[in-house]
Amino acid sequence: MNNPYYFIGMKEYNGIPASPGIAIHHVFAHYADSIPLPQYSLQESEVENEWSRYQSAVDRASDEIRNLMENLGAAASGKHQLLDAQLLMLQDPEMNDKIKKTLPETLQNVEWVLSEYINSMVNRLEASGDEYLAERSLDFMDVARRITNQLLYRERLSLTRISKEVILVSPNLLPSETIMLDPDKVRGIALDAGGKTSHTAILARSLGIPAVLGLRSITRNIKPDDLLIVDGNRGVVIVDPDEKTLICYRGKLFEQEKRESELVGLKNLPAETQDGKRINLLANIEIPEEIELVLASNARGVGLFRSEFLFMNPREQPDEDRQFRAYVKVLKAMDGLPVTIRTLDVGGDKLLPSMDGLDESNPLLGWRAIRFCLEEEEIFRTQLRALLRASVYGNLRVMFPLISNAEELDSALSILAEERRDLEAGGTPMSKNMPVGIMIEVPSAALISDVLARKSDFFSIGTNDLIQYTMAVDRGNEKIAALYQPYHPALWRLIKMTVENAEAACIPVGVCGEVAGDPVLAVMLLALGLDDLSMGAYSIPAVKRIIRSVNAGEASVALESIMNMATADEVESYLNGWMGDKLDK
Ligand code: PEP
Ligand code: MG
Repeated sequence: MNNPYYFIGMKEYNGIPASPGIAIHHVFAHYADSIPLPQYSLQESEVENEWSRYQSAVDRASDEIRNLMENLGAAASGKHQLLDAQLLMLQDPEMNDKIKKTLPETLQNVEWVLSEYINSMVNRLEASGDEYLAERSLDFMDVARRITNQLLYRERLSLTRISKEVILVSPNLLPSETIMLDPDKVRGIALDAGGKTSHTAILARSLGIPAVLGLRSITRNIKPDDLLIVDGNRGVVIVDPDEKTLICYRGKLFEQEKRESELVGLKNLPAETQDGKRINLLANIEIPEEIELVLASNARGVGLFRSEFLFMNPREQPDEDRQFRAYVKVLKAMDGLPVTIRTLDVGGDKLLPSMDGLDESNPLLGWRAIRFCLEEEEIFRTQLRALLRASVYGNLRVMFPLISNAEELDSALSILAEERRDLEAGGTPMSKNMPVGIMIEVPSAALISDVLARKSDFFSIGTNDLIQYTMAVDRGNEKIAALYQPYHPALWRLIKMTVENAEAACIPVGVCGEVAGDPVLAVMLLALGLDDLSMGAYSIPAVKRIIRSVNAGEASVALESIMNMATADEVESYLNGWMGDKLDK
């Protein structure tokens, strides 16, 4: 896929168009863990401070291990032994004395001193000829990595302190790092890794930062001061553009701004087809601050509040009151319009700080979302209490992510009922009829959606994960991005089945995955009879424009045709042809 196209001095790289828009700025390279270890000299007067930095990094690394052991639970005794050993190593007096002694001798920063010490230890262990000792060298390296990560943590925070407009170039970005970016400074993103519906891509779109992901080797092809064009519409990054290309892209930027201002005119018009069929367009948010954008887009509600992003602050986890305030803020701002808050969906690519180092061989098939919450009951109960208390401040709907069987839903509902009873006994005011629904994002849930519909007040179809799990394609893996197919007939059959089962049970059903924000597919969802579509607020105007330009009767005929098609390509070219020039306007 990466196909550098050489001009004189200028190079063009192809990746995945992950967040639309164009940006032209200089590079800011961010290498996170792969950053070369910093080495610098200290003044004598700085040694004491360096030693305290080291001690507190060791303390934080020890806390990290203790949290990890708690999260693993008693069952994982093998891992406990290993982590116990690491805790002991962190307190190893020989290592700590050596670091303390070496600092004033070498006057080098402590990351460097530590790595020198660990390298010499590892060499000694490996040269010992003793297999057991040689294997322990891995533990030493792991302990050093934990301390170094803590020491360099401030470097990672430096992403929040970017002080001029730049294009951020990095091997990858975690969702927790992306959420910290300031879109007034980070004007574009270019990453080696990632896919179109990875959470990093979703956040870039929410923040309105043009992004190209899955570039594979962009970090190896830039120099610190290069000028870059990020074209998030085409999925192209141009390094060191020539004058002609720059002029052409400045023209495109101008066109883009003009188009955006035309779309603003649609703000107060309904999402209604030419023959009068309406659908509700709602917005997805990650943090309460996004509500301004939602209001500006005139969304008919919040269809998905990804509450886990409240938990991504590495310095503190939100307690019940802090969550309550965040939920109330959104409910009040939406002033009676529906607000669907999804309970904590962590795991996979969204790790809580306390889950750092959680070692699962298949995290996306692992300890995620409702599975995590049903085990970490106290975290779940705290969130449910905050939600129940907030329910009187607006039109709140609560939903559970990644339900894959009926038992999970039963357990989640009974925990919710217990919390409601407790709060009632204490006289806390709560809404009596807060709808409680589920996300349909695992094929098993779609296949038993008739059963689940009897236990749910509504469904919201999460196509991002539904595609990932139906096609067995990691949504963040750029190597197999072409197999991640929103047009795949299998997806459309599962959505159809889910909608029919929801209709039979008389419960509303919406879509909150990225498919809802794709103008072509949004029209197919409308034809399928979805009640609402929830998408990043930035997608609402374009989706509304297309819906207003089509005829629902004709869309139903097109839908019938794609249901019997064999391949995603066939569906895509048929729909693009059917939409024709409506798409280009
Ligand atoms: C989805 O899976 O479609 C969804 C909306 O949830 P998320 O993208 O947060 O996994
Ligand atoms: Mg999901």
